[in-house]
Amino acid sequence: MNPLNQSDNAQNLSLDSPFKPELSIVVPIYNEVESLPQLLEAIAQSLNNTGLTYELICVDDGSQDGSSEWLKTQTQAFPQLRAILLRRNYGQTAAMSAGFHHAQGRVIVTLDGDLQNDPADIPRLLAKLNEGYDLVSGWREKRQDAALTRLLPSKIANWLIGKIIGVKLHDYGCSLKAYRAEIAADLNLYGELHRFLPALAFIEGARITELPVRHHPRQHGRSKYGLGRTLRVMMDLFTVYFMKKFLTRPMHVFGVLGIVSSLFGIILASYLTILKLGFGQDIGDRPLLIFSVLLLLTGLQLFSFGLLAELMMRTYHESQDRPIYRVREVIQNNLN
Ligand code: UDP
Ligand code: MG
Repeated sequence: MNPLNQSDNAQNLSLDSPFKPELSIVVPIYNEVESLPQLLEAIAQSLNNTGLTYELICVDDGSQDGSSEWLKTQTQAFPQLRAILLRRNYGQTAAMSAGFHHAQGRVIVTLDGDLQNDPADIPRLLAKLNEGYDLVSGWREKRQDAALTRLLPSKIANWLIGKIIGVKLHDYGCSLKAYRAEIAADLNLYGELHRFLPALAFIEGARITELPVRHHPRQHGRSKYGLGRTLRVMMDLFTVYFMKKFLTRPMHVFGVLGIVSSLFGIILASYLTILKLGFGQDIGDRPLLIFSVLLLLTGLQLFSFGLLAELMMRTYHESQDRPIYRVREVIQNNLN
């Protein structure tokens, strides 16, 4: 049975034209030339059995290792392949976003280009999607990455995202996901936001679930990420949260912060005044106290200003309507 078939929409599944595939696979690629041959083969093998028509969109994110040249050579032999070459390295989120914009299928599946995700899991994701979800997120139950620099930070991040947004997934960061195309199209991505796709989609009303998937150690090349990204991810998370909650009433945030910070200032100042006037103590003897007040107030102010700047950034991004990537070339077999 065609795993994409759903009774309410079965009509639309028959192809409008022979050129419009049912499924779009999107793979961001940054210096993965050694993995690509095996990846293409595994994807073809996994999907040929399903009988689905599909396109494979490989977005080359400014690779310098010959990935784009290799992809170019394959478009003739592999008619489903469409290579989108970006002008430079824009980052994984931008590369995925480029893939979403070019995808023609009613369902989109994303996965990494380094063979850590297993294309053999794609049919299972599609079957799950068909149970009535808009987004199925892979869960790397046995994740094959460094424990201290990757697993621990992402455990904390997953827990936090779950708490804040209210969608409890074990593994937001897994790239292997299946989406109904309209869900992906609605999302406005920048920064490291691809990590939060399920959270963003949930805010837009998507029905979300997860499915355990395989995960393999990286065989070729190196991970493009370290601990620094976790921090950037957390900053993006704050922004998303405040954006969604408080954009309409920023004073609810900044006002409350301002009041709390002023209260602290007043309490500490009163305390010092009582010491000075009531007990005749010299408050000059307590530089630490004054220092801590300074730190507290400065910290609060920095936080508020950072947030304000982030909100403005976001407004800027959304008002610009300007892509976060530039395409150099789209290469595909003329049959497409
Ligand atoms: N990637 C990308 N642009 C970047 C960094 C990474 O397109 O600037 C791609 C990379 O080629 C891979 C995927 O994003 O297909 C995930 O990257 P990586 O395997 O380094 O991340 P990890 O698995 O360590 O989280
Ligand atoms: Mg990887």
